[in-house]
Amino acid sequence: MSTVKAYAAQNATTPLDGITIERRSTKPHDVCIEIQYCGICHTDIHLVRNEWGVSMYPMVPGHEITGIVTEVGEDVTNFEPGDRVGVGCFVDSCRKCQECLEGLEQYCATGMVATYNSKDYDGTPTMGGYSEKIVVNEDYVLHIPDNLPLDAAAPLLCAGITLYSPLSHWGAGPGKKVAIIGLGGLGHIGVKIAHAMGAEVTVLSQSLSKKEDGLSMGADHYYATSDPQTFTDLQGKFDLIINTVSATMDWNQYLNLLRRDGAMVVVGIPDSNIPIAAFPLVMGRKSLAGSLIGGIKETQEMLDFCSAHNIACDIEIIPIQKVNEAYDRILKSDVKYRFVIDMASLKA
Ligand code: NAP
Ligand code: ZN
Ligand code: ZN
Repeated sequence: MSTVKAYAAQNATTPLDGITIERRSTKPHDVCIEIQYCGICHTDIHLVRNEWGVSMYPMVPGHEITGIVTEVGEDVTNFEPGDRVGVGCFVDSCRKCQECLEGLEQYCATGMVATYNSKDYDGTPTMGGYSEKIVVNEDYVLHIPDNLPLDAAAPLLCAGITLYSPLSHWGAGPGKKVAIIGLGGLGHIGVKIAHAMGAEVTVLSQSLSKKEDGLSMGADHYYATSDPQTFTDLQGKFDLIINTVSATMDWNQYLNLLRRDGAMVVVGIPDSNIPIAAFPLVMGRKSLAGSLIGGIKETQEMLDFCSAHNIACDIEIIPIQKVNEAYDRILKSDVKYRFVIDMASLKA
């Protein structure tokens, strides 16, 4: 065991603050990672503030982790000290169910072990990336390609795979019209990935204030959802809509923007239920679906895709001491476009 510095929430209402936590000793199949960067996902805020009613404290958030391998267990074959690596939203799964066998560990039938706010199979609470180091089984560690900077690559581990997986599954590519709702952490990387896949990309944002940024990321079109004309102009337009919005909103009006056989895939997770009318779905054989991050194999595929297309996230680097301020700014959509914590600041 080793004691490391971290930042934790002690309850749903007080600010995150410094703490020390224990990391297990490196087991034969473990990789020990010195964390250099950790992205701030909106999920961190939902969980820290117990918005989904499943939070456990103390909670060290963070599941967009990049760093350098410092030590490997004796049976590890795929990693060695000095490797540039990443850890995403989960650190283990049952490995036996159909989902795990198909490389879809995120849908593990008995529930994967999340990187934080979860329990490992031995009952130990898991603690995430707002910390100096983490010890993870090698099968749940990713290689970060050399041309991707560790800071701007960190949010790929959650935001990147959360958009890559549905874009790939629902066939975004040449000839397909894709809309992304919300130009935040998930949305902005989704625009870049969908563009690189060859799709015609439209951003549906609350206002036009980020239009120039969206177009420079690869969007072909940009509309404000605060303008009712948008919903008239775009009726029946899209093959695929990815909805990244973290807040409760009327999904029905977006279903009207799908063409026949189109799908809206929900990845944002508001804390209340949203009523759906049958008509927008029935009229045109449309689908409303959801998608959760991605499996380990697909996450590596996404990292290699981003490497090949030179894609990384647009980030604002902050010291850990600014994390509470960053949360408040995310809630105001005031971030371009992902906060990434420089973990060297923990040593300060
Ligand atoms: P984020 O950076 O805060 O982005 C969310 C975006 O949604 C905002 O930038 C904003 O875009 C838009 N938005 C916010 N409030 C809105 C409102 N009231 N009405 C309409 N649009 C609004 O958050 P994120 O990190 O991308 O995460 C988004 C959601 O996805 C969260 O709920 C998170 O928990 C969830 N998530 C899910 C998965 C998964 O696997 N399914 C993975 C990661 C995160 P504009 O300013 O452009 O309007
Ligand atoms: Zn996340
Ligand atoms: Zn499983």
